[in-house]
Amino acid sequence: MSRSAHPAGPRHADVLPEGHYTAPPADLNALDSKVWAQTVGRNDDGVVTVGGIDVKTLAEQHGTPAYVMDEDDFRARARAWRTAFGQDADVFYAGKAFLSRAVVRWLHEEGLNLDVCSGGELATALSAGMPADRIAFHGNNKSPEEIERAIRAGVGRIVLDSFQEIVRVAHIASSLGKRQRVQIRITVGVEAHTHEFIATAHEDQKFGIPLAGGQAAEAVRRALQLDGLELIGIHSHIGSQIFDMSGFEVAAHRVVGLLREIRDEHGVELPEIDLGGGLGIAYTSGDDPREPHEIAKALTDIVGRECEVARLRTPRISVEPGRAIVGPTAFTLYEVGTIKPLDGLRTYVSVDGGMSDNIRTALYDAEYSVALVSRTSDAEPMLARVVGKHCESGDIVVKDAFLPADLAPGDLIAVPATGAYCRSMASNYNHVLRPPVVAVRDGEARVIVRRETEEDLLRLDVG
Ligand SMILES: *Cc1c(COP(=O)(O)O)cnc(C)c1O
Repeated sequence: MSRSAHPAGPRHADVLPEGHYTAPPADLNALDSKVWAQTVGRNDDGVVTVGGIDVKTLAEQHGTPAYVMDEDDFRARARAWRTAFGQDADVFYAGKAFLSRAVVRWLHEEGLNLDVCSGGELATALSAGMPADRIAFHGNNKSPEEIERAIRAGVGRIVLDSFQEIVRVAHIASSLGKRQRVQIRITVGVEAHTHEFIATAHEDQKFGIPLAGGQAAEAVRRALQLDGLELIGIHSHIGSQIFDMSGFEVAAHRVVGLLREIRDEHGVELPEIDLGGGLGIAYTSGDDPREPHEIAKALTDIVGRECEVARLRTPRISVEPGRAIVGPTAFTLYEVGTIKPLDGLRTYVSVDGGMSDNIRTALYDAEYSVALVSRTSDAEPMLARVVGKHCESGDIVVKDAFLPADLAPGDLIAVPATGAYCRSMASNYNHVLRPPVVAVRDGEARVIVRRETEEDLLRLDVG
C-alpha cells in the first residue's frame, strides 16, 4: 500500500485490489442493513428515507453535502453497549469519533460516559451538561492548561500517557489541593489486525508507556508515591477497526499480569482496567462486525479468567467504543456534479464535497460503499470512483463501487457509515465549507452542527 503523497496529475490506473468486489452486487437498489443506519429504507417512489424523511427533502432544506444522522440508531447503539456491559462496567464513548452537544446529551441520557482528548472536546462535553465525573481525559501531550482545567472541572479520570505526565498531573493536582483519579496507559505489544496507521498498541508508537523492560511497572511505582494522584487502574487501547478478538485476549492477559505484579510488589489491587475501543464496523457488505453483547461477553470472560488464574479480585472493566457507536448512524448525502467515463477503466463521479468531509479514504485507504438515493434505477451497473471537488488527485471518497450506468448530474448519492471520523476530521481545504450534521428522528430533521459559512472562514482571517 502506497503511503506516498501523489502530486496533482493522473493517478495510475490501479485496478481493483485483490479480494475486492469482482462482480457488481445483485441489486444496485438494495440497501444492505449492515452498512446503513437502522431507519433507512426506500419509499414508494424509490427515494431513500431515514428517520421518516426522504433525502430529496433533506437536500432541499439543508443542502448538500450533509451528514445525516439517525438519532434513534445512535441511541439504540449506545444503549446496546450500555446494556451489554451492565452495571459492573463502564462504557466511555470516544468523543473524537464525533462530538457535538446534542450527542453529549444523548450519551448522558443513555447512561454512557465520555472520553475527551483536548480542551475543545472537554469544553463541548461540559457545556452540554455531561457530569465531569463521567468524563475521562486522554492524550499523549495534554497541555498544563488542559490538565488544570480538567482537574478543576473534576473529571472522573485522567489517563496518564508518559512519565512526564505522571509528575505534571500530580504537581498540578497537589497545587490545587486535589487528589486526581488517574489510570496509566500502557502499550502491551499487541498489534491489532488492521491498517498499520491506525494500529496503536505495538510499542513503536507515540501513545502509552511500554510494558516491556519494566517501564509500566516503574510508572506505577512512581504514580503510587505521589500525593496528587489516586491510581485507579491500567489502560490499554490496541487499535482501530478491529474484528478479531484475539488482540484483546493478549492485551487483557498482559494487563492482568501487570496488576498481579503490582499486588505482589505494593500490596495494592488496582480496582479498574480499561481495554480501550477500536471495535470494527461494516463499511461495505464484506465486513462482519460483532454485536456489543458478544464483545462484552468475550471481554468479561477473558478478564475474569485471567484474574482467577492470578488470584486477583476481578477489576471493574471499562471500554471506549467510538466508531462502533456513531459510525453506522450517519451517511453523507452528496449531489452528483460531473461524470467522466473512461472506457474500459472506470467512470469518475464528482460530488460536491470530498476529502474535506471524508479524509479517511485518502488517509487510511478506507473502503466505503455508495448508493443512488434520489431514485431507483434499472440500468446496468458501472464501475465508479466517487471523487470530490478538491484540487488534489487523491481526493477520493469511494475508490471502487458500482453505481447505475444512467447516473446523471443532479442525482443524489449517499455514502453510508460516515458517522465516525468524518465530520470530526473535516477540514477547510480549498476553503470548502464544512457540511452540517442533520439529526433525523420521527419525521423531523434538526441541524445539530450547522453548515460553515464564508463569514465563518473570513472571521478567522484578520487581514
Ligand atoms: C480512538 C480511541 C478510541 C476509540 O476508537 P474507535 O476505533 O473509534 O472505537 C478509544 N480509546 C482511545 C484511547 C482512543 O484513542
